[in-house]
Amino acid sequence: MIGVLALQGAFAEHESCLDRLGQEFFEIRKREHLDRSMDALIIPGGESTVMGKLLRDMDMDSILKERILGGLPVFGTCAGLIVLSKRVVGGSTSLGTLDVTTIRNAYGRQLGSFETVAGFDGKEIPMTFIRAPYVESVRPGVKVLSEVDGRIAAVRQGNQLATSFHPELTEDLTVHRYFLEEVAGVM
Ligand code: GLN
Repeated sequence: MIGVLALQGAFAEHESCLDRLGQEFFEIRKREHLDRSMDALIIPGGESTVMGKLLRDMDMDSILKERILGGLPVFGTCAGLIVLSKRVVGGSTSLGTLDVTTIRNAYGRQLGSFETVAGFDGKEIPMTFIRAPYVESVRPGVKVLSEVDGRIAAVRQGNQLATSFHPELTEDLTVHRYFLEEVAGVM
């Protein structure tokens, strides 16, 4: 059972990927929903400042932080990457469980959106970037899974996976499958 953080942003698109992979999920919209047991968590793209504020106001941030540090598999995309990052340039930290420095709204080519094809864990896949952040640097223990234009676009630290792009906005299920199989071990 996968929990999808559904406070804000592109959570429905992740749900459709989970559907296509035959995975059951539920939406996390308030604190009580965290009482339900989950095998893994997805934090979608959206607006990291808004998501961070909602997590704090709804008193969900410390529980989630504790669970992730305790081993709950988590996958953050775009704003979700920012929410997970320990250090954020041009924004504020929220859960801060992933030992990377992320720069907000700063992806190389422009501040808008672009699509490309690039390697992820050695496989070429389509990628959609929308006002994307990128990971400027990682600490030991964090594996770089993808670089686009010389900038880090996907990382994994044990139970945590994060991408600066939006795999849920393409037809390709490689990253979701990687998360569910390799990180969460539920498939
Ligand atoms: N720029 C957004 C932020 O700072 C992230 C964009 C996205 O999630 N597509 O949160």
